[in-house]
Parts: sequence; structure tokens; C-alpha cells
Amino acid sequence: MNAHAPVPPRPKAAVIGAGFGGLSLAVRLQSQGFDVTLFEGREKPGGRAYVWEQDGFTFDAGPTVVTDPDCLKELFALSGRDIADYVDLMPVDPFYRLLWEDGDVFDYVNDQEGLDRQIAARNPADVEGYRRFHDYSEELYQKGYVELGAVPFLDFGSMISAAPSLMKLQAWRSVYDKVAGFVKDEHVRQALSFHSLLVGGSPFATSSIYALIHALERRGGVWFPRGGTHALVRALAKLFTDLGGKLHLSRPVERIAVREGRVTGVVTKEGFEAFDTVASNADVMHTYRHLLREEPRGQKVGKALEGKRWSPSLFVVYFGLKTQHPEIRHHTICFGNRYRELIGEIYGKDGLADDFSLYLHHPTASDPAMAPEGCSTFYALSPVPNLQTANIDWSVEGPKYRDKILAYLEKHYIPGLTADLVTSRFITPDDFVNDLNAWKGAAFSLEPILTQSAFFRTHNRDDVIPNLYFVGAGTHPGAGIPGVVGSAKATAGLMIDDFATQATAAE
Ligand SMILES: Cc1cc2nc3c(=O)[nH]c(=O)nc-3n(C[C@H](O)[C@H](O)[C@H](O)COP(=O)(O)OP(=O)(O)OC[C@H]3O[C@@H](n4cnc5c(N)ncnc54)[C@H](O)[C@@H]3O)c2cc1C
Repeated sequence: MNAHAPVPPRPKAAVIGAGFGGLSLAVRLQSQGFDVTLFEGREKPGGRAYVWEQDGFTFDAGPTVVTDPDCLKELFALSGRDIADYVDLMPVDPFYRLLWEDGDVFDYVNDQEGLDRQIAARNPADVEGYRRFHDYSEELYQKGYVELGAVPFLDFGSMISAAPSLMKLQAWRSVYDKVAGFVKDEHVRQALSFHSLLVGGSPFATSSIYALIHALERRGGVWFPRGGTHALVRALAKLFTDLGGKLHLSRPVERIAVREGRVTGVVTKEGFEAFDTVASNADVMHTYRHLLREEPRGQKVGKALEGKRWSPSLFVVYFGLKTQHPEIRHHTICFGNRYRELIGEIYGKDGLADDFSLYLHHPTASDPAMAPEGCSTFYALSPVPNLQTANIDWSVEGPKYRDKILAYLEKHYIPGLTADLVTSRFITPDDFVNDLNAWKGAAFSLEPILTQSAFFRTHNRDDVIPNLYFVGAGTHPGAGIPGVVGSAKATAGLMIDDFATQATAAE
């Protein structure tokens, strides 16, 4: 529970964007007595966690691996509610099945004996190495997630105070580098290092801090909402409106109004609406460069953001089959033959690699109701360069890439896929730009490297405009559902404290 006292009288707050970050912030503020209006540009909430209903199939657009359920439960508990009354979270087991083209299979499970047995079969010495890695991951989790995950790094001093622990944990080394120091088998190394890709970071460049995801999963489990991830989005939206919050869909904010250095409100197609405070969950570049286009501050920060490293984009093909596939687990990683080299190309090459590694999502393994009777729902996700890295004409390459991915899956894992195909659709980096205002189509905002983390990431409160706040993947701690839900905690804490300070000063 948030320990901050309610702030009198009710401050009027606007939140721009109903992604997981915006929804979580809106819920927190509304629970704490703010009068919140949430503006979402699209006709459904969710952002990256959008959903399509197509030919009887439910296709969640984005996040599917739900970790740290406690951070979600807390949002409901703030107002004395129970998440179970809003959405049913089901455990997923194994967390992931990992497949390699040479036929190797590793079930990433949450029981020590099962993990030890599979690791020992590859290299007995790695069992002990894995235990040491797990201890290391636990330390990272305590420091990076529990202690620092929801701290707003507003000044360099906060970074300096965190520095000794980060040095001790060797945060300057990459995830893969650290993992490789613990285990020798290449497939086990991949199994323990691929997670940073789920938040947009290359295992070869991202700070080893991100190895905390392993402990996060082992502690809290991997979950899936019945009905799909969008059922969780709808639960948060309902919680917000149950609390009295106002949710405006299909209402993109066109401009953030600023006068005499302070935000005064937002402009939408309905005109100007005054607010005491505004928080943006929209892409950080879009917010500074477009929504603050009339402010020198917006132009200045926009220019600085241009020089940053942006995470890769994603190509995702969603497809429904008229058959069921009990042999395919809910979450599968299909590793290609190249790991380091392929990732290097995704993060740095102008062009598409010939091969790929895929994440295959099969939600009907947990919830058959997400497809018509006897059918199954899938998506296959391939990380691809963003539009800054590679100049690819996706209107030409998209259909070809879709066919290539489906043919690969048919050859290796789903025989008969083409004959059983009922429906499909795909998204490319262009859709991240057009639907989500994502700079260069980056799927996870700024790349999570050490020099773009914590104090070096977009601050949860603007340095110059004191009543303008940020929440979501571009802010601390970063992308992923637990990340953006944590960012909402950090931002809400600031907003509540700022109003409490003002209220005290006014007395
Ligand atoms: C395909 C995919 C798979 C993923 N898988 C996982 C996973 O399994 N597990 C996990 O934890 N994470 C996963 N992630 C990452 C995770 O989904 C994101 O990091 C997270 O959802 C981002 O949330 P956010 O709050 O930053 O905002 P977003 O989801 O980006 O939402 C921002 C919202 O702002 C709105 N907006 C933009 N401009 C305006 C405007 N001017 N006015 C009004 N509204 C505006 C947008 O429409 C959008 O709804 C995945 C991401 C993708 C793309």
C-alpha cells in the first residue's frame, strides 16, 4: 500500500495514454484522492497490450508473459479491492519451452530438481554454476527491483548513492557475460540470458542488472489472465472507472498547454481542458517533440533524445489454425542457429537477417476459449531492427517475412500449418509508429543499457516544467509490465508528494 496521505483539495490530473503504465498511474492517483482523466488515442485501452478479435480468434497484440503478480494486486489493494474479483490469473507451467533447431529441448520450469536434471544432462558442472547464478540473480532482484525499482532517479546524487551496490554487482558487465561466467553449456547460457530481449535489451549489451528477471520469475511465477492479456487491461480500466476516474477513448491529446513555465492543461479535438498536473504515458519522444512542440523545452529534449539508442522493433504474425496443438506449450522460444551474431544484426545492421529466433505464443494452451472450438490461436514474434537502424520498406517486406516465418514454423514445429490456417494478420515497425506514436518503431522505447537507465533515462518528472510527469517504458525503471507498473509507483509517489508539499506551503 502507498503510505502517502491523501491530498486535499482534489487535484485535477490528466494522464495521456492508457498503456499498462498510464492505467497503473491513473489507478494510483484516483485511489489517493486525485480527480483523474485518462486520455487514450485509440478506441481501446492497452497500448502495446492491444487486442484484436478476428474470425472468432482472440489475438493479444503484445505482452503475454505476466510476471510479479504482486505489483498488479497492489493496484487493487490500494482501494481495498481484490484483483480476483476483476480477473483470473492462471499459472503457466513450464514458464517457457526452449527449442533449438538441432532438436534440443529445455523446459524452463520452476522446480529445482527439474532444472538441475536438465542442466546436468548438458553439463554436470553447470548445476553448481546455475545455483551461483540464481544467488546472483536474487541479489540483483533485491537491489535493482525491490530497493531501486520504484525510486525516481531525479538527480545525479541518487545515482551516486546507488553506485556502490551497482559496482559490487558488476552492473557494467552484460547479462550474457555474467551468465557465461557461471555456466559453460551454450544452450544453458542462452536459456539464462534471453530474458533481456523481452524488455528490448541485447543480452550482449544490457546491464547484468537485467539478470534479475530470472529471480523475479522464479519467485513470483509466470501467469496468464483468463481471456488473454487484454482481460487484465480491461480489469485495470474497470477498476479505474469504478473508482470514479474518467476514461476517454479515441481522444488523442494534440498538445500539452504550458504557460509561464507550468502545464495548464491539454488540448484534444474537444478543445482545451484545464488540469493542475499532467502525466504522459505516450512515447517520450512524441511527448517532447510533438505534444510540447511549441515549447523550447520540447525541442531541446527532443533533440537530445534523437542521439539516444532506441530499442529494436518487432515483427509479429498472429494466426489461427483449425486444429489444436497440445504438443506446443504456451510460451516457446525457437532459437535459430545463430545467437550472438543474429542479435548483433538486429541491433546494428541495416537490413533484415536471413535467419531468425522466434517467440511463439500459444494462448489456447492455457485458455481454449481464445479460439473457436477445436481451433488454436498463435503469434510468432521476431525482433527486427528499428527504423533508425535499418531502412526497410515494410509494405514490401512484411508479407514476404510473414510467409517466411510461417514456412519455418511449418517445417520445424507445426506440420500442416498452411493447410490448417484460418486467419492471420501481422504488424511491422511501421505499425508501432502509426498506431502508438513510437519513435522509429522502437517496441520498448529507449534501449535499456546502463548509460540510459535510472538517472540517465527520461525522468519521472520533467526537470524544468514542475507539474509535468512521465510514466511508462521510456522512464525508470523501463519496459515490461512490472517495469511500467513500477514506473507508475515512482511517478505517483512524486505527484502525491509534490501536491502535499504545495498544500503545506499554502497553509
Ligand atoms: C509484441 C510485444 C510483446 C511483449 N511481450 C511482453 C511480455 O510478454 N511481458 C512483458 O512484461 N512485457 C512485454 N512487452 C513489453 C510491454 O508490453 C511494454 O513495455 C509495456 O506494455 C509498455 O507499456 P507503457 O505503459 O509504456 O505504454 P504503451 O503500451 O506504449 O501505451 C502508451 C499509450 O499511449 C497512447 N498514446 C500515444 N500517444 C498519445 C496521444 N497523443 N494521446 C493519447 N494517447 C496516446 C498509445 O495509444 C498507447 O495506448 C511486449 C511488448 C511488445 C510490443
